[in-house]
Amino acid sequence: MTTTSEFDTIAAVATPPGEGGISIIRVSGDHAFEAVMPLFKGKALDKVKSHTINYGHIIDPETQSEVDEVMVSVMRAPKTYTREDVLEINCHGGLVATNDILQLVISQGARLAEPGEFTKRAFLNGRIDLSQAEAVMDLIRAKTDRSMKVALNQLDGSLSRLIKNLRQDILEVLAQVEVNIDYPEYDDVETMTTKLLLEKAKEVKASIQQLLKTAKQGKVLRDGLATAIVGRPNVGKSSLLNELLHEDKAIVTDVAGTTRDVIEEYVNVGGVPLKLVDTAGIHHTDDKVEKIGVERSKKAIAAADLVILVLDASEPLTAEDRQLLADTADEKRIIILNKTDLPLKLEMPELEQLAGDTKIIKASMTQNQGVDQLESEISHLFFDEGIETGRGNVMVTNARHIGLLKQASSALDDVMSGIAAGMPVDLVQIDMTRCWNKLGEITGDSYQDELLDQLFSQFCVGK
Ligand code: GDP
Ligand code: ZN
Repeated sequence: MTTTSEFDTIAAVATPPGEGGISIIRVSGDHAFEAVMPLFKGKALDKVKSHTINYGHIIDPETQSEVDEVMVSVMRAPKTYTREDVLEINCHGGLVATNDILQLVISQGARLAEPGEFTKRAFLNGRIDLSQAEAVMDLIRAKTDRSMKVALNQLDGSLSRLIKNLRQDILEVLAQVEVNIDYPEYDDVETMTTKLLLEKAKEVKASIQQLLKTAKQGKVLRDGLATAIVGRPNVGKSSLLNELLHEDKAIVTDVAGTTRDVIEEYVNVGGVPLKLVDTAGIHHTDDKVEKIGVERSKKAIAAADLVILVLDASEPLTAEDRQLLADTADEKRIIILNKTDLPLKLEMPELEQLAGDTKIIKASMTQNQGVDQLESEISHLFFDEGIETGRGNVMVTNARHIGLLKQASSALDDVMSGIAAGMPVDLVQIDMTRCWNKLGEITGDSYQDELLDQLFSQFCVGK
């Protein structure tokens, strides 16, 4: 295992940028104490008990002037986030004070941490594995309670445990094959060995398929469900959007500081994060000039996983309604029949025929009706078997993991077709080993440096 002494001491602001009640400057490494103690007026930090928080002041050693009143958490290796000595300076915040303290820590020999470097150290020092490191990243970005639970499960290592067990199983078979090959004098050894490999390949493949089945749900929970709200002008799209955005349902994620420097708009619908596509077409300041245009809604429909088509029950169907019904016929869609508080003018038999299997939800945005039903319909459409995010329930959410599971599975296909074609055992063994390696890349038991750099650079600084 890697020891901490290979690394220099790093520091970064661990709280989000901007104004806040408190900011935390995190310092980790062999020289964490040396980097902080010359700046700290209070108890001798190297004498206090580990995992205590200590009151004092940060003083600029050159001018002797006081920079801030602070609390310093002292956490000695190895029971820390990075397994190194970690000191965390909790200061009063404000960008200037926070940065001043960070600069002072750096002047004492620490280096500014790269994005994700604390978590990378936790990985390199053996505290967490790769899939757990990725879970940390998911946690930071979690959009709903459910997304959070999935990430927490992964952080807890349940995916890693499952993968490790599969690898252990494969390894045992490979070892057995090795032994059999070494004693070819036994009768039937070739048949026995192939049988062993075939059984194990089938078994592991079944487990991988089971995991991959969770991937679709997992992806939705992690990345959100791209959703387009379409409909001709004045049917109630903005009203629906407002209902959805109502109070705690609005989640606007500012992912600045990460690799995607954009603002995305999410709504939390029954625990499913809906990522709204082209809300610019719906948010409008002046209804008179509103014109979403057929081209624009076509684009939104194409980009969406889910289309919510809004119709006005108080008016007969128009050509534009019919066009939208036709354009969305092949999509996963839900029809909101809005304004049902007004007298019904829309031709229901025709709509039912045009809608086919699509669920039609009778709604009234002014009477606050239909939104609950919309929520349960979305769950129904995307989570037939219900959303299982209980503790210990393993779900794959990460594109990298999904890719590796598919590669591992195809290596097993090669094992099986190789056996069927009567290939020599040592060739079949190679495919089995490939499966073992691919699974190992998920937990980081086999990894490459570039992968690490790429993964951890997606974190924000301070994590
Ligand atoms: P959009 O153009 O599709 O975004 O439609 P809006 O949400 O801007 O709504 C158009 C008009 O219909 C507004 O005056 C709303 O107050 C009204 N409206 C929206 N939903 C309902 C409803 O369920 N019942 C009634 N009676 N009026 C509604
Ligand atoms: Zn409108």
